[in-house]
Amino acid sequence: MEHFNLYIDGKQVPAASGRTYETEDPYTGKPWARVADAGGEDVDRAVAAARAALSGPWGSTTPAQRGELLRNLAALITRDADRLAELEVRDGGKLMREMSGQARGLAAWYTYYAGLVDKLQGEMIPTGKPNYLVYTRHEPVGVVAAITPWNSPLLLLTWKLAPALAAGCTIVVKPSDYTPVSTLALADLVAEAGFPPGVFNVITGWGPETGQALTAHPGVDRIAFTGSTETGKAVARAAAEHVTRVSLELGGKSAQVVFADADLDAAANGLIAGVFAAAGQTCLAGSRLLVQDPVAETLVAKVVERANRIVIGDPRDTATEMGPLANDRQFAKVLEHFEAAREQGATIACGGEAVAGLGGYFVRPTVLTDLPPGARAITEEIFGPVLAVSTFSSEDEAVRLANDTPFGLAGSVWTKDVHRAHRVAARLRAGTVWVNAYRAVAPEVPFGGMGLSGIGRENGADAIRDYTETKAVWVELSGETRDPFTLG
Ligand code: NDP
Repeated sequence: MEHFNLYIDGKQVPAASGRTYETEDPYTGKPWARVADAGGEDVDRAVAAARAALSGPWGSTTPAQRGELLRNLAALITRDADRLAELEVRDGGKLMREMSGQARGLAAWYTYYAGLVDKLQGEMIPTGKPNYLVYTRHEPVGVVAAITPWNSPLLLLTWKLAPALAAGCTIVVKPSDYTPVSTLALADLVAEAGFPPGVFNVITGWGPETGQALTAHPGVDRIAFTGSTETGKAVARAAAEHVTRVSLELGGKSAQVVFADADLDAAANGLIAGVFAAAGQTCLAGSRLLVQDPVAETLVAKVVERANRIVIGDPRDTATEMGPLANDRQFAKVLEHFEAAREQGATIACGGEAVAGLGGYFVRPTVLTDLPPGARAITEEIFGPVLAVSTFSSEDEAVRLANDTPFGLAGSVWTKDVHRAHRVAARLRAGTVWVNAYRAVAPEVPFGGMGLSGIGRENGADAIRDYTETKAVWVELSGETRDPFTLG
């Protein structure tokens, strides 16, 4: 059993209470690491360290120095990508096949924001008041609390950490209690890269205790959260108490809209990528298929044929295409959805059951057809490898069905008609729309949701500003005395 401490003020420390908990390998279902269980006192220590670091050497780094530190970190992540990937596979059950590329890909975020650090400039604003020189400054927002989920811990942390560090903030991270270890391993690399103590802190523990204590902490200036919509609402409520700025990247029920003229082989492949990659445990999962009547049968047959060939097994084996679900709670939730679909009269075109004989939390890739309107598989985020199929006859109906959800994270349009592609992309209420593609992300491209899918955008050039406060500075130029009883 490996043992991991908290990481506060540049040091690995046990929880003040001495409490620990075990984290499980979802492939074996057995504990593999023991991790510190942080309480309120540890949260206070971490926030105090992050606050103090703002007025230490970190607070006076130049943009060029921060850029260099970010590039150092990118190089170290590349060096240790295999180890980081292994830890994520062990803790979360995701595929080595995906995580080894994902761990290497993280470096691109740090180099992207390293390149933006010295472009974070204010502007001189010409006003109708010639006696004033007015300019803006973008100052670091301060202490950032990052709360991350278990599905891609380092990637989703990186979307917060890279722009926050670029902007000059300090950060306290609480990873999911299911997958804390890779974030603790990253702490060592942040230190090795040369970031001063207190800039990056990690507290591990349970969401409703440690996470709640962090988001409700008066010393936090900005919260960046990824996780479920329900927890996101709780985080927003906690943020309201101290009027803390918050961004929320929440769940989704994204629709893949396939028109009859689409390349059906490409669409089937995109559907597999959208809902069966990562065993469907991604916020952007394309978990609803909306397919035009004339091609519905053919497309569903193609998806089912490929789904039945998906190689399920050990996530460390690079031949494996689908690993286990990440934890017991997810496993129980997905099985419960299979039952609900049966009760609601769905046809199980494939899957719909756990995989016997493998141990761990395995379920089969599942395609559900003949669902009644409003069925749970159509309306609820399952966060598992479950595709809910509906059909449509016209473009208007497709858009109506796609938008018939309180979520608005992502979606796709599959068609060869360039006019329709852009038309439908514009009409879908979602933060990301792929055309003839699915499940691509990049540091340069904003990502986030509408409606119950969240508030704010991560990634892209604007994200760095999201970790700053804009200050307007007014400089009086005339030297004359003004009427004090009027607005200047
Ligand atoms: P949660 O939203 O519960 O967890 C996300 C993060 O929030 C974790 O670090 C969690 O800690 C923490 N947390 C939990 N409660 C609080 C709280 N009161 N205050 C502050 N932080 C808190 O997601 P789950 O991991 O439980 O997953 C449940 C569902 O969420 C999934 O089935 C899926 O639908 C959705 N989900 C969406 C994700 C996305 O990327 N949009 C990612 C993960 C899940 P801890 O894990 O220690 O409880």
